[in-house]
Amino acid sequence: MKAHDGMYIGGAWRPAVGTDTITVLNPADEQPVGQVPAGTAQDIDAAVRAAREAFPAWAATPPAERGALIGALRDQLVARKDEIAETVTAELGSPLPFSEMVHAGVPILVSGSYAELAATYSFEEKIGNSTVYMEPVGVVGAITPWNYPLHQIVNKVAPALAAGCTVVLKPAEDTPLTAQLFAEAAHDAGIPAGVFNLVTGLGPVAGQALAEHEGVDLVSFTGSTAVGKQIGATAGAAVKRVALELGGKSANVILPSADLTKAVKAGVANVMSNSGQTCSAWTRMLVDSARYDEAVSLAAEAAAKYGSRIGPVVNAKQQARVRGYIDKGVEEGARVVAGGSEAPREQGYFVQPTVFADVTPEMTIAQEEIFGPVVSIIRYEDEDDALRIANGTVYGLAGAVWAADDAEAIAFARRMDTGQVDINGGSFNPLAPFGGYKQSGVGRELGPHGLAEYLQTKSLQF
Ligand code: NAD
Repeated sequence: MKAHDGMYIGGAWRPAVGTDTITVLNPADEQPVGQVPAGTAQDIDAAVRAAREAFPAWAATPPAERGALIGALRDQLVARKDEIAETVTAELGSPLPFSEMVHAGVPILVSGSYAELAATYSFEEKIGNSTVYMEPVGVVGAITPWNYPLHQIVNKVAPALAAGCTVVLKPAEDTPLTAQLFAEAAHDAGIPAGVFNLVTGLGPVAGQALAEHEGVDLVSFTGSTAVGKQIGATAGAAVKRVALELGGKSANVILPSADLTKAVKAGVANVMSNSGQTCSAWTRMLVDSARYDEAVSLAAEAAAKYGSRIGPVVNAKQQARVRGYIDKGVEEGARVVAGGSEAPREQGYFVQPTVFADVTPEMTIAQEEIFGPVVSIIRYEDEDDALRIANGTVYGLAGAVWAADDAEAIAFARRMDTGQVDINGGSFNPLAPFGGYKQSGVGRELGPHGLAEYLQTKSLQF
């Protein structure tokens, strides 16, 4: 795999200040695929300075021109889509067809949406005797996780650039090669020097330096709730804007009138895709008592079909964590009906597609985010019970509701404490706001709501 040995700062690849490096491993075979520099606080400082310097001119660039450059960036991603898919497969381990369709495909859609939104969004509004201007917040520090390496980057960088902000990105240490490809695409698209900057490195070193840097006006973070809380506290102390996309433990609520087979199959597929490493995955399947046993057999059958089609999880630590959760589920009395904690292969960080029955709402596997291919099936007695269970975690990122008709599903969805609900298998909408209730986060990504995160208002009275 191609790897740069420098940081992309101020429109050029520059040598890193320190000499430490990060070796990227392929989780499917544990072999090294590349090496990138591990940035220090000094690298972050250089990148933030470049972003500050570039900010006034970029903020003053007409939105339609910014949109045209984001469109050029989208075209560069299209030109590199095969290389992007291969790189994501090499560093995340996701099967190539999934990398092509989702890891390379979705960022093309999202960057395209911001090319258009930059040109059409109303950055000015009249309210009574006032004119309200939507102005860019300033320099954005973007910190991203490894689970959707390019999507998480584009979700932050595209709206930030559309708003007129400049960006310093610190991508996840497991997937920095995809981030370097993105920097190449931004460069070749003609994004002006300093508008987008990349520093690879470790979270507690480069990530923390970025979150704490006084030259950063807004920190946009996607990752674990534990780190998110820390970043929120740091930003709060500095009275700095912050957007947090954190964990989830979403419920897939199958109401008694729903098509059970369809709902169960879609539910299992949703968790197994990306090896369960999706923050919005419907990891808790809620089924009424009368159809519980039928749902359990359908889910076990569906999970068994995944067998070796599923990719590995990202690294050894994650594999151990997921297997530990499976053991914990057994210890607390849940019943494994597919998969189990035993590693299915000698090499690679694989975990068996696993389904648990007899899961009660308070069990660890029903409360904590596992971030692996594990579904927990929970029984409910009536709709109020289902709602109590669905809302009974600290998270509120996503969910699904299935019923014979949409109206019934909508009525239930409106009572859920969560930011996104798919009704009867509704499909992904790259313009719909994505983000969490409760401890799943602060702020929204995607579409016009995602753009608004990077804007602040100025009112002029006449
Ligand atoms: P993580 O929190 O460990 O890391 C995320 C990013 O933060 C990485 O770039 C990492 O280097 C950096 N980081 C780590 N420690 C830091 C620190 N002290 N200061 C600043 N930055 C630091 O999470 P992860 O293991 O990479 O990702 C998995 C988690 O992300 C899961 O919990 C998942 O739910 C969550 N996630 C949420 C969403 C969402 O949109 N809500 C999307 C994807 C992943």
